Amino acid sequence: MARREQLPLNSRGLVKFVDGIEKLEKPKSKLICKLLVFTGLRNQAVAHLSKEWVEDGMNGMQIRVPRESVCDIGESGACATCSERGGVWVPKSDAGARLVPVVDEWYDHYNDVRKPSGLPDLLNWFFTENDVVGGSRNLINRAVKRAALHGNLHNEQGRGFVEMDDMPEPVPDVMAHDLRGSWACQCIRSDIMKFRIRAWGGWSVVLLLDKYARCVGDVTVDVRKKL
Ligand SMILES: [Zn+2]
Repeated sequence: MARREQLPLNSRGLVKFVDGIEKLEKPKSKLICKLLVFTGLRNQAVAHLSKEWVEDGMNGMQIRVPRESVCDIGESGACATCSERGGVWVPKSDAGARLVPVVDEWYDHYNDVRKPSGLPDLLNWFFTENDVVGGSRNLINRAVKRAALHGNLHNEQGRGFVEMDDMPEPVPDVMAHDLRGSWACQCIRSDIMKFRIRAWGGWSVVLLLDKYARCVGDVTVDVRKKL
């Protein structure tokens, strides 16, 4: 199946998606979705995120994505992808090793109100019992689709529904990768300096953010407020 282009959530879609996350039953699904939407980490970085990556910085919790990390998220040791690389996970690019802030609040630009993210508490809770997030691409994708279903995202930006294996009903067309774009758009909306977004997001050059700036321009309601 051909993958469509990345379609970041707009400001209203983001609100609906975050509302959808809160309705998820499984705390781990919540954690996965919040990591995607509030840190911009790629789905495979989320799956490989281990306790050791999380630290306290000057401005609160942060995630230090390493240059490499021993993978043990497979059924017996490394996952299939990392097994091909000697059991080691590496970021997608050199710029992928980076520090990412874990926000404890985010700005709902659609309703013009600041809200708690709940992410630091979720991470603290999860890593008292576990060492690594884990989860297959499919598991992550299902968590995203369930949150999108709870949030009625099919109504947003002409997304509509898609069929998905293991899901009993059609689900709104939101991909994990859309959430990385949503995070970038949210940073732009919140007037974060582009050099900072580039570094946090692990992009090699600032130019790669241009497409997100265009997405933000398309949003009908866009009151620019500081994060
Ligand atoms: Zn792996």
